[in-house]
Amino acid sequence: PEVITVQELANRMAEKATDAIRVLMKMGVMATINENLDQDTAEIVVTELGHTPRRVSEADVEIGLVGEQDDPADQQPRPPVVTIMGHVDHGKTSLLDALRSTDVASGEAGGITQHIGAYQVNLPSGARITFLDTPGHEAFTQMRARGASVTDIVVLVVAADDGIKPQTIEAINHAKAAKVPMIIAINKIDTPGANPERVRQELLQHDVQVEAMGGDVLDVEVSALKRTNLDKLEDAIILQSEVLELKANPNRAAEGVVVEAKLEKGRGPVATVLVARGTLRVGDIVVAGGEWGKVRALIDERGQQLQEAGPARPVEILGLNGAPSAGDAFSVVESEARAREVCSYRQQQIRKRRQFVAPTSIEGMFTQLK
Ligand code: GDP
Ligand code: MG
Repeated sequence: PEVITVQELANRMAEKATDAIRVLMKMGVMATINENLDQDTAEIVVTELGHTPRRVSEADVEIGLVGEQDDPADQQPRPPVVTIMGHVDHGKTSLLDALRSTDVASGEAGGITQHIGAYQVNLPSGARITFLDTPGHEAFTQMRARGASVTDIVVLVVAADDGIKPQTIEAINHAKAAKVPMIIAINKIDTPGANPERVRQELLQHDVQVEAMGGDVLDVEVSALKRTNLDKLEDAIILQSEVLELKANPNRAAEGVVVEAKLEKGRGPVATVLVARGTLRVGDIVVAGGEWGKVRALIDERGQQLQEAGPARPVEILGLNGAPSAGDAFSVVESEARAREVCSYRQQQIRKRRQFVAPTSIEGMFTQLK
């Protein structure tokens, strides 16, 4: 049976292990952080802490979405995937827009015009960076809670005229729990009240040591509004990604994560996916969450049709028979029969999950689970 330690469960929720232990105590379970919990107990803790429990289905494991490693010899360098986090109004959306405009490959193909939930920027050096255009800590934790760790680097935006705020701290905690390195973008340096030095000092109080403070966290002063130092921020991202030695095997069946999905008039179900490993091709048979289909078209953030999409490439898929959910895993399978089989298993799991109504009391939880 599947088990998870108290510590790992807490990490996935970005909660403190002590809070999980407190819930367990209320249930009469004395546990340490290294205690193994079974799935039912883990689900109660998750629900009690206000999160939605999701089990990694057996089908996910079967088709290799969890834990499967490629041979190091088959791995090739891939672009970093970056999520922008930070307090409300500190400039996340402005920064994402500004970075989008730094793409140098826009000339012939046209600029990044489509909003598909993620985009890739081409730098003058030839390097590429993938930005997840779904700011919000919720999306980040949801994906992580589902075992889909798609972010390599968090860019933490802190407004130089406002400093560290509650959602800044929350983002720091998420990044730390996920063990994802942070780069600090000290934004709004064009404003009269900007005080980048104070930001560095305040970060120190939250155990984030930037280089000037003797630590190893990279920080860059930027202005999303005036487009100042965006190249420096991108250089810092590339530098960090080189340290991480990000690699993936492009020569295998594609797997990855759904970033967003919707039903569009005239286009049907459209899912934006991020390829984690392998290469996705037109004509492939794809299972995404509880949906499947034959890839009819792949479309990038410039509205261009692609024949294939490799690691770290965000792309829209047309041809699914329904819209999966953000955070769902997708993978290419060998046949339509296999796709149907995996989907029916998953839909069964989804129905079961829906039957698990959130209990209103501790007593209610026990009766429900018996
Ligand atoms: P978000 O809530 O983090 O996505 O923040 P937004 O990108 O929506 O920005 C909030 C406000 O700050 C908007 O009015 C922006 O125009 C402004 N803003 C964002 N970046 C800068 C900047 O570098 N300098 C100045 N002066 N204003 C900025
Ligand atoms: Mg915003």
